[in-house]
Amino acid sequence: MEKNTSGNTGLFIPGPTNIPDKIRQALNVSMQDMRAPDFGELTLPIFADVKKIMGLENGEVFIFPGSGTAGWESAISNLLSFGDEVLMSSFGQFSLLWVDMAQRYGLNVHHCEEEWGLGVPLDRYREILEADKAHKIKAVFVCHNETATGVVSNIEAVRDILNDLDHPALLCVDGVSSIGSLEFHMESWGVDVVVSGSQKGFMLPTGLAIVGVSEKALNSRATANLPRTFLSYDDMLKTNVTGHFPYTPATTLFHGLRASLDMIFDEGLYNVIARHTRLANGVRAGVHAWGLSLCAKTPNLYSNTVSAIVIPEDFDSAEVIKTAYYRYNMSLGAGLNKVAGRVFRIGHLGNLNEIMVLQALAGAEMAMHDCGIQIELGAGVAAAQETFLQANDIKVTKAA
Ligand SMILES: *Cc1c(COP(=O)(O)O)cnc(C)c1O
Repeated sequence: MEKNTSGNTGLFIPGPTNIPDKIRQALNVSMQDMRAPDFGELTLPIFADVKKIMGLENGEVFIFPGSGTAGWESAISNLLSFGDEVLMSSFGQFSLLWVDMAQRYGLNVHHCEEEWGLGVPLDRYREILEADKAHKIKAVFVCHNETATGVVSNIEAVRDILNDLDHPALLCVDGVSSIGSLEFHMESWGVDVVVSGSQKGFMLPTGLAIVGVSEKALNSRATANLPRTFLSYDDMLKTNVTGHFPYTPATTLFHGLRASLDMIFDEGLYNVIARHTRLANGVRAGVHAWGLSLCAKTPNLYSNTVSAIVIPEDFDSAEVIKTAYYRYNMSLGAGLNKVAGRVFRIGHLGNLNEIMVLQALAGAEMAMHDCGIQIELGAGVAAAQETFLQANDIKVTKAA
């Protein structure tokens, strides 16, 4: 198939997300001296503002050159020791990869393997933690928003279990596709580490691992003996005090991050979160109107940043994605690993509005139609439009 290259490319994957013009312009700056005495004027307020986004009051934010995966690695290597017992669960590609990383680091992982489409197994977590009377489990890991299946997990409920049992394990959370888009309260949820990246809710290019670390977690560094060099929190702490870094930071991305934070605060973090909810409701209304279902099993698990849509049995979702890509110049998210061929994903996070969502739904309808899937053209678009109109709190009245 020849590729349609006209017009804007529709990027409807859950990361990298669309970059607003304001941020693209902010990225276009000359290189600067990262050891300059006033470099902290750029970076220190950024650390403080990222803490606000994460709901972190005490503790520290570390920003590494890297992607979200580097953030995962920093949490493991800075806070744990070889052979430590940890509790983890997998229910999608991202949660699974963090488990794999922990195993490669030589951690002793209690691995709860869940059906893809479910979230963190609270009952299993409680059972395992309750049985751990000697508190051998040093850390509990949760993927807040599983981007492969469009499932959001209840972090507060995990904290409640730890509190109920008086269990001192660290709570480590993957927030790569939730921070800045979904509600997150690191402090009041008692989260010890949250990992994010620049290319999702922060609307930036890939290249920054953004990590929030609680004071309790920082204190556990003293006994943690896994080797760490590039991703060392100690090295970061020493230099970050003045806003400097142990090696060359991605200075241009910091200018982009400044613009991103400004945009989020200008709109208001709660408005940003509300917008994600509204747009996700539109997508879900569309999917329902198509007569299709989501990979996420129950409504309480539906993610407001990404929807994984299950296509009818006899079809291959890769064909839908390929058709959308070549014929309509738009990218939909692929089905990964266990759900390859079964789902396509619509990423609805970051720099996005109602009309962009309608574009994604319209394109997905055409691509599914082209692949022979029985879809009433316009049904998903109309359902989303209806949702958006109802959610529209600006009532336009005809002038008298
Ligand atoms: C994207 C993503 C990652 C991986 O981040 P990279 O930036 O690709 O390294 C991890 N977890 C979740 C939930 C993600 O969405």
